[in-house]
Amino acid sequence: MRGAVIHAPGDVRFEELDDPEISRPTDAVIRTVATCVCGSDLWPYRGAEPVDEPQPMGHEYVGIVEEVGSEVTNVEPGQFVVGSFATSDNTCPNCLNGWQSSCLGREFMSTCQAEYVRIPNAHGTLVATDDQPDGEFVPSLLAVSDVMGTGWYAAVAAEVTPGSTAVVVGDGAVGLCGVIAARELGAERIIAMSRHESRQKLAVEFGATDIISERGDEGIARVKDLTGGIGADSVLECVGTPEAMRQALHSARPGGNVGFVGVPHDVAIDGQELFFSHVGLRGGPAPVRAYLPDLIDRVLTGRINPGKVFDLTLPLEQVAEGYRAMDERRAIKALLKP
Ligand SMILES: [Zn+2]
Repeated sequence: MRGAVIHAPGDVRFEELDDPEISRPTDAVIRTVATCVCGSDLWPYRGAEPVDEPQPMGHEYVGIVEEVGSEVTNVEPGQFVVGSFATSDNTCPNCLNGWQSSCLGREFMSTCQAEYVRIPNAHGTLVATDDQPDGEFVPSLLAVSDVMGTGWYAAVAAEVTPGSTAVVVGDGAVGLCGVIAARELGAERIIAMSRHESRQKLAVEFGATDIISERGDEGIARVKDLTGGIGADSVLECVGTPEAMRQALHSARPGGNVGFVGVPHDVAIDGQELFFSHVGLRGGPAPVRAYLPDLIDRVLTGRINPGKVFDLTLPLEQVAEGYRAMDERRAIKALLKP
C-alpha cells in the first residue's frame, strides 16, 4: 500500500509502505475512506517539532473494516467505522470515567494518511455506523474523529452551559468546530476571534454571534467590551501558542473556565496570575471516543455539519500539496481521498 511519510520539515512524500497487519487480537485493519491533514501535523512540517527519521503521518480517519483480531467483537469486516486519534480499550478505569484519551492502554494514531491503517485497541476505539453513510456525510464523520471531537471537548472543558457567553480563540478547524460545540451546548453568545474573512464567515455560519479580529491586549479589551467589562463565562483555547493562552486566560471572567485543546508549544502559565484570576483551567487530548456515538448521531441527523471545515479535497497521493496549502493558509483543512 501507499501512504504519507515525513522525511524532514517541509518534505512529505507519498510512498510505498508495508501493508498493515493484525498483530494483536484487539487490532483491526481498515481501508481508508477519507483522512486529512491536521493543524498539529504542521508542527513537524514547520520544524517546530524534530523529525529525526522518516515517519508515517496522520491520525484522523474513517474507513471500512477489512479484518479484525479475535478479540474484536464490536465491529466486523465491511462496516463503516469512525475512530479517534487516541485509541482506548474502553474498559480501564480512566475509560470508564470518560477519559478514554488517558486510557491505560492508549496508543496514539500516527499512520492514517495511508490506504490502509492498523487500529490498535479497535475493540474499544471504533464505532460503526448502522448503515453505509451517504458520501455527503463522510467529511463530517471524518471531522468527528478529531477536530469536531476536540472542539466539543474544548467546550465541555470550558463548561459551556445554556445561556452562557463563550469566546473561541483560534479560527482553525478545531476553533470553528468549537463554535459548533458551544452552540450545541446552548451558549447564547459566541464570540469568535478571527482575522480571516473566509473563516469569520464559517464561524458565523456555525453559530458565532460576534467576531473579534483584534489580538493581544486589544482583543482582550474587545472581549471585555462585549461582556460587561468582566470577561466571558467560557473560553475555548484552540491554538496552543503562548499568545493564544494569554488571550484565553485574560478573556475569561473571574469564576469562568478555559478549555485548552491546542497542543501547547512553549506555553508557560504564571501561577500568581492564574491564582488571582479565579479562572478554572482544563485541557488535554480530547476523549473523543466518549463523544463518538452522540456526535455521529448529530452528523447523520443533519444537526451539525463540521465537514464544512474541509475547504480543499485532494487525492491521497497529493498529500504533500495538502500540507503546503495548509502551511500557507490557503486552506483551513485538507481532506484526502485514497
Ligand atoms: Zn482504557
